[in-house]
Amino acid sequence: MGNNRILCFANQKGGVGKTTSALNIAACLARAGKQVLMVDADPQGNLTSGIGVRKKNTKKTVYDVLIGQATAEEATLRTEVKGLSIIPAGIDLVGAELELADEPRREFRLKDALETVRGQYDYIIIDCPPALGLITVNTLTAADGVIIPMLCEYYSLEGLSQLSTTIRLIRKRYNPPLELVGVLVNMYDGRLNLTVSVLEEIKKFFPGKLFRTPIPRSVRISEAPSYGLSILDYDRHGKGAAAYAAVARELMERCDSM
Ligand code: ATP
Ligand code: MG
Repeated sequence: MGNNRILCFANQKGGVGKTTSALNIAACLARAGKQVLMVDADPQGNLTSGIGVRKKNTKKTVYDVLIGQATAEEATLRTEVKGLSIIPAGIDLVGAELELADEPRREFRLKDALETVRGQYDYIIIDCPPALGLITVNTLTAADGVIIPMLCEYYSLEGLSQLSTTIRLIRKRYNPPLELVGVLVNMYDGRLNLTVSVLEEIKKFFPGKLFRTPIPRSVRISEAPSYGLSILDYDRHGKGAAAYAAVARELMERCDSM
């Protein structure tokens, strides 16, 4: 991996904390003095609204970038957070999969676009939709590394083999150096017995990949996006902010040693 990392947060399961983790970790990296670009690759646009960007104020989106109507630079907006920019998403992204279906290099659209701005950022953080379709294929093809957020519950284990198969397929066909950077346990509640056994299963499935710090379940974490704030600005002394800061530090270490 080079010095400017492109990382995507992927899991085809919905509601596991892809967006929440992408946003808060990006904010932690920016707080650490890094130049960070977030890319909202989900038509739901949760990352965009979660950092306080109004969809009606966005002129160009990731959709325009994917279909070649805008460059990554043209679609990039500053956020209120120092060092943190975003390529926003809008609902128009829903159409991209169909529109791209017969286009040349359809799997490489995001990669080609991001390569033009890669040198300007220490980290580019991509938030994926809960699906393994062409958009996610584009994000995994563009990325140096993937981070898998997951919940510590029984059903989380289902679907992991499908996700692993997809990652292997992407390596084989489009992006051989793609690395699994880490698995992030979210909404952790150490009081539950089940948690311990599920955690063991996750460790077995992804040896050495689990981030040391799990993200606790916290109402503050879920409230922050409705104010357009990261957890660092919404509840800076809380346990959520501390956990995300710890994961961001570990992430930087892992990226440095790759
Ligand atoms: P989707 O697959 O729909 O894109 P996602 O994987 O991006 O979902 P999020 O949107 O980040 O998941 O989180 C799902 C919901 O859980 C949101 O309402 C979010 O605020 C909440 N949430 C995420 N992490 C936590 C946490 N640690 N504690 C409490 N609530 C959380
Ligand atoms: Mg999401």
